[in-house]
Amino acid sequence: TRSTRPQRLLKAVQKHATRGDPQSVISAIDHFCRHSEWAMNVGDEKGSILDSVVSELNPEKVLELGTYCGYSTVRIARLLPPGARLITLEFNADYAAIARQVIAWAGLEDKVQLVEGASEDWIPRMKEHFGIETFDFVFLDHWKDRYLPDTKLMEDCGLLRKGTVLLADNVICPGVPDYLEYVRNGLFYKSCYFKSHLEYTKAEDGLEKSVFLG
Ligand code: SAM
Ligand code: MG
Repeated sequence: TRSTRPQRLLKAVQKHATRGDPQSVISAIDHFCRHSEWAMNVGDEKGSILDSVVSELNPEKVLELGTYCGYSTVRIARLLPPGARLITLEFNADYAAIARQVIAWAGLEDKVQLVEGASEDWIPRMKEHFGIETFDFVFLDHWKDRYLPDTKLMEDCGLLRKGTVLLADNVICPGVPDYLEYVRNGLFYKSCYFKSHLEYTKAEDGLEKSVFLG
């Protein structure tokens, strides 16, 4: 049977990226997605905004919602300080299997814990299962109808502290109007928009950065 896109993406990494070199893994995926097949990674353009938010925060405890092939996982993990931890959630077993190999190829498996399962099931178990008190940084990039309910779930589970930064992808394309209304117009967040483009295209998209006010 024909291979899947994630399998072909992994092949491109194994062919063109250097083991243990995260930047080469990122470049190999971006090249594959620009020149061979589009894929739903945050991509290079929004990725550089993600990089600057992560670098500025220097977070110790990070949660990512939506791993797919591990592109943004590698982007974030390569910037984390020693001892920091990134937990990334993915409910598609085939994607998770590819992501594990991409993360390992980048040499980042010590910093990353890939959890196979649904965000709504795992968010309530973060404290007991992983000993997490609160997250410093959360990257939201899973299915768009889950951004708002999972944000409220993280609040209810006490996973956010004053100063926790949420960074949400695809807030214009495909868009998350209910989430934007909540973080922009409610009392709990200070929120701002970073204008950019949908991964590997010229269509407008952007990231919303929202600081939890406690
Ligand atoms: N963050 C990745 C990157 O930039 O490289 C891309 C993630 S992709 C846009 C979204 C992923 O979220 C898909 O792989 C999908 O299977 C996963 N997903 C969607 N809803 C989820 C949920 N509720 N729990 C866990 N994973 C979910
Ligand atoms: Mg995205």
